[in-house]
Amino acid sequence: MKIKIGSLPLKTDMARIDAVLRLLPAGSHLAVDAMNAFGPERASKTAAALAPLGLMWFEDICDPLDLDAHAGIAAGYAPPIAAGEALFSAAEARLLFRHGGLRPDRDILLFDPAHCYGLPGYLEIIDAAEARGWPRRAFWPHGGHLFSLHVAQALGLGGSEINPSSFPPFGGLADDAVVTNGRAAPPDAPGIGFETKSELMDLFRNLMNG
Ligand code: MG
Repeated sequence: MKIKIGSLPLKTDMARIDAVLRLLPAGSHLAVDAMNAFGPERASKTAAALAPLGLMWFEDICDPLDLDAHAGIAAGYAPPIAAGEALFSAAEARLLFRHGGLRPDRDILLFDPAHCYGLPGYLEIIDAAEARGWPRRAFWPHGGHLFSLHVAQALGLGGSEINPSSFPPFGGLADDAVVTNGRAAPPDAPGIGFETKSELMDLFRNLMNG
């Protein structure tokens, strides 16, 4: 699970996080996403408060191009950090890898193949990451949409978020998907997944016919 933080005082966010953690089994099942809200000072205060919680990751902490801030947080916050959602080219990705202080053994890369000039652009980013020692399991493409799910499956990435209530009609899973213990398999069907979501295919058909 993942929740947004950063729009409320730290004390309130910590109470919200605690309430969610109490609902989950033991282990790292919760990530938090600050939506790029923090400057360096607030980021480091929040990181210090989050550090003992065993979170799955701490995402979009500060301005995506403030690489000094990223590096500063990574230097003082040992648990996983997730970044890259708002970077769209291999050149930007290389800057993040070189100057963002991220750690290939634990951190998470959120580049969204739909935002990164499609699959060819996304593959360039994977090549740039692998050249700097990043494993494919570090990639969790942003978006919670079926295209990201298929890309993650095809390229052997770490995973793909599913966001059933956002980004309709692209978000969510195939019509007949089954979620078991928080996980779902991609559809076993030709195509890139959109074909298995009737709401989405109806939209495409209407656009093509219109
Ligand atoms: Mg995010």
